[in-house]
Amino acid sequence: MSFDIEKFVIIDNHAHSILKDLAVLDEIGFRQCFSESRCLNILQDHVNKSVHYMSMLDHLLRIFGLKSEQEFLAFRMKQDSAQFVQMLWDNVSLGALVIDDGYNSGHAMNLEQLSKISGRPIFLCRRMEAIMESSILSAESFKEVLSNYKKHLLSSSKRKPVALKTICGYRGGLSLLDPTEKEAERDFDKIKKSLGETKTFRIEKSPLYHFLLRKSFEYAGQAELPVQIHSGIGDDDADLVECNPALMQPLFRDRRYSKTRFVLLHCYPYVREAAFMCSLYSNVFMDLSLSISLASPSSAMLIHEALSTAPSTKLLAGTDGHSCPESHWFGALNWKRGLSHALFEMINSGLVTQKEAEEIGALVLHDNAIKLYKLEGLA
Ligand SMILES: [Zn+2]
Repeated sequence: MSFDIEKFVIIDNHAHSILKDLAVLDEIGFRQCFSESRCLNILQDHVNKSVHYMSMLDHLLRIFGLKSEQEFLAFRMKQDSAQFVQMLWDNVSLGALVIDDGYNSGHAMNLEQLSKISGRPIFLCRRMEAIMESSILSAESFKEVLSNYKKHLLSSSKRKPVALKTICGYRGGLSLLDPTEKEAERDFDKIKKSLGETKTFRIEKSPLYHFLLRKSFEYAGQAELPVQIHSGIGDDDADLVECNPALMQPLFRDRRYSKTRFVLLHCYPYVREAAFMCSLYSNVFMDLSLSISLASPSSAMLIHEALSTAPSTKLLAGTDGHSCPESHWFGALNWKRGLSHALFEMINSGLVTQKEAEEIGALVLHDNAIKLYKLEGLA
């Protein structure tokens, strides 16, 4: 029996850009790309003894014929950046990426630079919170916030977004308030008063924030832009208990958002909850991105669990790669490995035929993303 999805092109539906200075990473900087911890001791003494990191490094050393992490770090420093990125991403047939450019934006390449260096189509996913914060800071009145926010959220002037993203999981969790416009306006007045002359502002769970979030979901539905939602694991500012995607069930049931398509990102350890949501609601989708890298020894199991209840039309591949191109490469590698194993097991158990497994592979690795985000030039 021949069943091989190694050559399938993968469309990465959730990732971030790479560093402008991507060659210059020391041991800690490189390990940070494969850990959500900012604790120096974890990065110094524990990440390198984590199975996902050990297997990632081992694979890289075999590709380049090197012997140690130190040797690899010295080697990558001497490489031509464009060639290095393209070699790695070709190695796993990473064809195109949807990039959330709100992460590390001062140090990361912009989307044009990333497209040039990688030789790949790059699509924009726009973060809602950054637009909210700047709209609130610059507005004199609540009315002005509403109109500025909508205009900037949906703007195509520099680049047309293919998706929007919320990190509300990091800013108070996934159970959303449902404030009235009056309550949001009162909250705006209160926030403006407390800001005074301050030029920076971080939006946190509040009536104004959740009013704007809910407005965004309506706008996204009208503009046919899918909304990505951070759920499950992420960095330390996210309260993991509050990031359970099941907390969003009232939102998925709400008829006001029936036209809005939601994509649950990461999901771990709530993969079952997310997959079940996908099976219940036609407008809910999921990826496993960060989980597929950080829990890579379980990638086949996670994909198997997701496909146990989520229709295969609902699962999307993503790497959550950021900063160094090895992280995107590793995510894509694990998708292919994990998906192959999960589908093999399903064939061997008589659950699907080989042809059906290949169809599922194509849906998950590229077709679902192309259709959902309407990725031009890839269909
Ligand atoms: Zn991310």
